This record gives sequence, C-alpha cells and structure tokens, in this order.
Amino acid sequence: LSVPNNPTIGYIEGDGIGPDITKATLYAINSSLEFAYKGERSIEWQKVMVGDEAYEKTGKRLPQESLEQLRRCVVSIKGPLTTPVGEGFRSLNVTLRQYFDLYANIRPVRYFPGVPSPVKNPEKVNMVVFRENTEDLYAGIEWKYDSEEANRVRQFLSEQFNISLTPDTGIGIKPISKFRSQRLVRKAIQYAIANKRRSVTLVHKGNIMKYTEGAFKDWGYELAATEFRDQTVTEEEYSKNPEAYRNRIVVKDRITDNMFQQVLTRTEEYDVIATTNLNGDYLSDAIAAQVGGLGIAPGGNVGDVYAIFEAVHGTAPKYAGLDVANPTSLMLSGVMMLQYIGWNEAAKVLEDAIVQAYKDQKVTQDLARVLNIKPLKCSEFAEEVVKRMKPVE
Ligand code: NAD
Repeated sequence: LSVPNNPTIGYIEGDGIGPDITKATLYAINSSLEFAYKGERSIEWQKVMVGDEAYEKTGKRLPQESLEQLRRCVVSIKGPLTTPVGEGFRSLNVTLRQYFDLYANIRPVRYFPGVPSPVKNPEKVNMVVFRENTEDLYAGIEWKYDSEEANRVRQFLSEQFNISLTPDTGIGIKPISKFRSQRLVRKAIQYAIANKRRSVTLVHKGNIMKYTEGAFKDWGYELAATEFRDQTVTEEEYSKNPEAYRNRIVVKDRITDNMFQQVLTRTEEYDVIATTNLNGDYLSDAIAAQVGGLGIAPGGNVGDVYAIFEAVHGTAPKYAGLDVANPTSLMLSGVMMLQYIGWNEAAKVLEDAIVQAYKDQKVTQDLARVLNIKPLKCSEFAEEVVKRMKPVE
C-alpha cells in the first residue's frame, strides 16, 4: 500500500458507546503519530456517518454518500453499530464487508500482563485468527420454514437425499468456494511469513461436512504446497526432520471441536489460524475470553484493496454516553490500522503505551470490577495511555 504522509482515513463513530471509544482512540492515535513522527506524518480524519446518527439525519443507516466516502478513504476505522431487531434488516457490518469485499476478518489475540483472565497461563495466548468473512452459513441464503420457497427446496432436497423434511423445517445453505477459501488462507500464510510466525492451522469440520469444510482444508493445503512451496511444510513432514525445516511455516489442520479444547489445553502450539466463517466467529470470541474478553480484543476486516478496522464488541447500550466504556479494543484496532498502512513506529508507540497502562493497573470499569480497584473513565484511560507514550529512538 503506498501511503502519503498525510493520508485521509475515514472514521465511523458508531452507536452506543461508539462515540466515547472513538474519541479516545483518535486522540491516542494522533498522539502516537506525534511521538513517532514529530509532525512529519499525520492523519486527515474524515467523519463518515453510518448508523443511528445517519438514520436521524438522512433516513438511512448507511447512506450512499457514506459508502462513497469510505471508498475514497480506502482505509477506515469504525466503532460498533446497532443492528435493529426485526425482519428484513441486514446487519450494517455484513453489508460493509460484502460491499467492499473485506473477505478476511483478522483478530489478533494476545495477553497483556495486568488484565484479569479466567485461565491459568494466559501469557501463552498469542494467536491471530483469519476468519473467512463472505460465505459459509453467513451468506444469507435461507428459507423460512413456512414460505413457499422453503416448500420447493424441501421437496427438491427430499428427492435428492431420500430423506423426509417436515413442513416445520427452515433451511440454510453453506456455500464454500475454492477461490474464497484460498484467498483467505493466502492472507493467513502471507501474514505468518511477514511476521515470522511458526505455524498456520486450518480449522474445519471436514469429517462431517466433506465438500465444504473438508474442501476448505484440502484447498488450504493445496495452496500452501503450490504458491508457498518453499516457505511452508506440512506438520507431518516437519515432524520427520524439524532441523531441515526450521525456518518454514508449519501448516497443519485441526477439527473444530478438538480445536476448542486445544486452544485451552495446548495453547502454545497455536499461532496463526485460518478458518471458515462460522468456526471463526465462535473460535475468535472463545480465544479472546482467555485474555480478558471483548473489551480489549481488536479486529480488522481486510480485502485486497479496502480495509475497515473495528472494535469486535457491540454498542453496549447501557453505557452509551457515560464515558465509562473500555476503548482498548478500538485502540488496538488502531494499532492494526497503523501497521496496515506501514506506520509501524506509531503502531509500536501506541501498543507499548497500552501495555504499560495495563501493567500499571490502569483500567476501566469492566476490568476494575474484576480486579476490585477504582475504575478510570474512558477518557481518563486514554490520558493514561498517552502519558505512557515514549518517543521513538
Ligand atoms: P455488546 O458487545 O454490546 O455487549 C456485551 C457485554 O459486554 C455487555 O455487558 C456490554 O456492556 C459489555 N461490553 C462490550 N463492549 C464493552 C466495552 N468496550 N467496555 C465495557 N463493556 C463492554 O453485545 P450485545 O449486547 O450483544 O449487542 C449490543 C448491540 O451491538 C446490538 O445491536 C448488536 O447488534 C450490536 N453489535 C455490533 C457489533 C459491531 O458493530 N461490530 C458487534 C456485536 C454486536
């Protein structure tokens, strides 16, 4: 990505706690740029209206003008958005992912000393989940049980599979394609190589769903063995001669249910994970829970061109406007965004300051409650982070 010294980056404040955590995050990012580049580089922030505010002003939650702004910006950061409950409303997040073809949902999960964790050795957790973002059961191909279409689909399936589908059966389809599987695995392997990680684990339920989950695994191995032949090795080959393959990325696979146990019991064996949409959704939240939960887990939705970095949690409506939410998830998404545009110095300034704040037990209400210490406001936490920033040598 070629980035000028003063790029325009879009920001969506989001709903609920969104405006509070966005304010804290932009302040922290801007401060990290000052420390890293002393005025030589800065970000021109462009506000993009999406969600409740857009609805109030334009009658639409995602106006066309906002989509065009995001397109012009190429890279953006966003707070959480409300998904109104009710039929016929597609989640804005899903719409954004599909519109900009943000096919990889990337969720790094690592432990920060000082953060309360429910597991014994949280410091062993250091994984990056690459979740396919555009297909699988989330593609939105579903029929309500009492619709005419469902009836036709049931009839077709009953004949094809010689089974009886009763009229109270709703149906969903799970499309998994070679192209979309491989471009996701490619991103995961490229990331592993660029960041000197040890392994990429393909997580799938191929023992049951052979032509979708099983195919995902096979296509992943095929890609590794062709495009990345000289940089990767299978687990089996590696185990025969670890010395010879010392510098290679080990590609392995695990069945999903087993993987949920493995990340708890053999945590240190897992590093970069590439998986299908539904598996990735569950697995990334489960891993995040080991290191302190949603308030601190960052995420990015990345395609070949566009990228939107976002807090992984929701709008926490009960804390809206109270300046009490934890902005760490969005701040760390900001770290990912800075890395994405190649501004690694600023990313390090910001990340190191957040790590130090946690070491010093500076926490917001969500974690203060567990640690039984006095909570900081969202804005006070941002101040504590900025206070800990150090200039780059
Ligand atoms: P949520 O993540 O908003 O809340 C779950 C729990 O975590 C709540 O107790 C909440 O108070 C707490 N929490 C979450 N983030 C926090 C933070 N930064 N600091 C302190 N506490 C925090 O999930 P929900 O209640 O299921 O969803 C609320 C709304 O958010 C819904 O409309 C949902 O559709 C939307 N949502 C949006 C996104 C997104 O935009 N990416 C993701 C998930 C949910």
